[in-house]
Amino acid sequence: MVVIEDEETIAGAVAARLESEGFAVETAGDGPGGVELCRRLRPDLVVLDLMLPGLDGVEVCRRIQSEREVPVLMLTALDSETDLLIGLGVGADDYMTKPFSPRELVARIRALLRRAERTAAPERDLLHAGVLKLDLDARRAFVEGAEVHLTPIEFELVRRLATRPGVVYTREQLMADVWGYDEALGARTVDSHVGALRRKLGAGLVRTVHGVGYALEAAPR
Ligand code: CA
Repeated sequence: MVVIEDEETIAGAVAARLESEGFAVETAGDGPGGVELCRRLRPDLVVLDLMLPGLDGVEVCRRIQSEREVPVLMLTALDSETDLLIGLGVGADDYMTKPFSPRELVARIRALLRRAERTAAPERDLLHAGVLKLDLDARRAFVEGAEVHLTPIEFELVRRLATRPGVVYTREQLMADVWGYDEALGARTVDSHVGALRRKLGAGLVRTVHGVGYALEAAPR
């Protein structure tokens, strides 16, 4: 989270409060510094003061949001400023007029983060490889549109292979990536899980490269 505010006592108090709530916070004391900090840190949320040296909050808001979508909570000195900014369509997601209560600030920030999470909920994360389709959110696998029930470890295995169809993975790589450890004795484990995958997905989908490992067929027959 980034706090852009030139009044050090306010910046310090806001940062301390947010840190005590478990957020990681970095502060910038002027407009250009704030834009730079956001570019570097890619924060989840920005608390942005309107009156800043260098660039004002309106311009900072415009710049950081032109690079990537990020919720902005704008701090203003007067309610009338907030009305004006909303009228201008500045693009901040919420406004607070100073002085504000730290508790209220935290509540607003949590609400903004929840909203960002909801609206950012992507379309289903799907992985396609030839006739195979993996729904990564629901952890479901489909071959030519028909669902195939996989165990969690089988799903991880095929997902690993499907990330780069045609690329050969050694048993050791698969052991490390899927099971999370590197163990020479694990080769048999990999082989038996690949065997199970073949039975479920169709033998043509996972190719054995003898002496090397396994690859997913990019365009299985
Ligand atoms: Ca200020």
